Amino acid sequence: MPNRQIVLPASALVLLAVFAVLIAAILLVPSFTARVIFAALVLIGVAVLIRTALLVRIAPNEHHIDSKADRNESGPETFELSKLLEATMSGMREGLLVVNRDMRVVASNNAAYRLFNPTPRRLESQRLTELTRNPAIYSAFLDALKGIERTGVKVETHGPERLVFDLRVVPLASTNGAGAEGALGVFFDITRIERLESVRQEFLSNVSHELRTPLTAILAFVETLETGAMEDQESNHRFLSIIRKNASRMHGLIDDILELTAIEGGNVQLRSAPIELHALVNEVVSSLATKAFSNGIVITNDVAPEAVVHADARRLEQMLTNLIENGIKFNREKGQVTIRSESGTRDKILVEDTGEGIPAQHLARLFERFYRVDRARSREMGGTGLGLAIVKHLALLHGGEVTVTSELGKGSTFVIHLPRAG
Ligand code: ADP
Repeated sequence: MPNRQIVLPASALVLLAVFAVLIAAILLVPSFTARVIFAALVLIGVAVLIRTALLVRIAPNEHHIDSKADRNESGPETFELSKLLEATMSGMREGLLVVNRDMRVVASNNAAYRLFNPTPRRLESQRLTELTRNPAIYSAFLDALKGIERTGVKVETHGPERLVFDLRVVPLASTNGAGAEGALGVFFDITRIERLESVRQEFLSNVSHELRTPLTAILAFVETLETGAMEDQESNHRFLSIIRKNASRMHGLIDDILELTAIEGGNVQLRSAPIELHALVNEVVSSLATKAFSNGIVITNDVAPEAVVHADARRLEQMLTNLIENGIKFNREKGQVTIRSESGTRDKILVEDTGEGIPAQHLARLFERFYRVDRARSREMGGTGLGLAIVKHLALLHGGEVTVTSELGKGSTFVIHLPRAG
C-alpha cells in the first residue's frame, strides 16, 4: 500500500483563515443575527473544506494510474512499436522484401540487401525487375499482388556461392478492403539443409550400392550350389569361401558405417591420456603380422622408445590399424611399411609405405566416405572405402588432423597430427 500525503492547495489555506476569523466573530460579535450569519458562513466553509480535502485525496490515485514512472514500476514494459519492428527486421536471418502495387520496393532488411546485392546500393524504390531477373521471384510477388499467397517457391542464386532459398510471399491487404496494396516476401536460406540432404542421399545410394554387390555375389553362389554344385566337392568349398568373403565384407561395411555415424554424431567420448607410442605401435603391428606376412610386407616400428603422445589409446590404435593396413594392402610385393614419430608444436605419427603412390588429383578427396582411387582393387582387398574417413574424423575429434603426401612409384606417407598435452 503506497504512503499518501494530503497536500492542501493554497485556496484551501485561505478558506481555513476565513474560517478562523468567522469563528472569532461568532464569539465576539454581540448581535444575535450577525452571529447566525457568521455560523452559516462557517458551515458553508466547512462543507467547502471537506470537498476540497476529498478532491485532493482522489487526485493522487488518478495520477498513480496515469503516471509513466508508476506504470514502469508495476506494469509490463512497453516498447516503441517502430523501434521493435526495425530491430526485428534487421536481426532476422531471413531476407524480407515488401513491394507496392507497382512492384517497387517499399521496405526491406539487411538480409535481403545481402541477397540481392543491388546496384545502385539501395533496395528502396527500386523495381523488382531491376533487382532480379529470376522469374520465380517475380511471378510469386505478382501472384501475391493478385491476392494469391505463394509458399515453397525455390529460388537459387548463381553468384560466387550457390545459395538456395525457400520463398514465401503474402498479399498485404489494403485498408479499404480493395485488393492487395502490396506484397511481402520472406526468403528462407535453405542452402545448408539442401547440402545436407544431398550428402545424405549420396551416402544412402553409396551404402545401397556397396551392400548390393556382395549380396548379389552371395545369392548367385547359393543358387549355383542349389542347382547341383553342392555335389561337386571341389567347387562347393570354393563357393562357400566366396560366400563367406562377401558376407564378411557386408559385415565390415555395416560395422564401419555404424562407427562413422557414431563418431560424426558426437556419440564417441574420448578418454585421452599419455600413451607410450612405441608399445602401442608394436601391438598394432602384431595384430597385422599375418596379413603383412602373407603379402610379403615388412613392417618396421621406428618410433623412439621414450615417445609419449596424448590421445585415446583405443581410438589411436584404430587409426593406426587403418593406416598400416592400407600400407600393407596398397604396397608392392616385398614392400615396406615404417612407422615413425616426430615432436614439434604438435605430435606427429607418420606411416610410410613403399607402394605405387597416389596420383595427385585424388589426394584432396581421399578422406571422403567411399572415395577410392581404384575401386576394383579396393573391393578385391576387402576394403569398405570408409577407413580413411574414420581416421579423419577420429583425428578431428582429438583436435588434430590427418594429412597425406605421395609420390608416384615411390610410396605414400600418412601423418596423424595430435595436439600436445598441456
Ligand atoms: P579402403 O582401404 O577400404 O578402400 P580407405 O578409406 O581406407 O578405404 O582408403 C580409400 C582409398 O584410398 C583406397 O581405396 C585407396 O585407393 C587409397 N589409399 C589408401 N591408403 C593408401 C595407400 N597407403 N597407398 C595407396 N593408396 C591408398
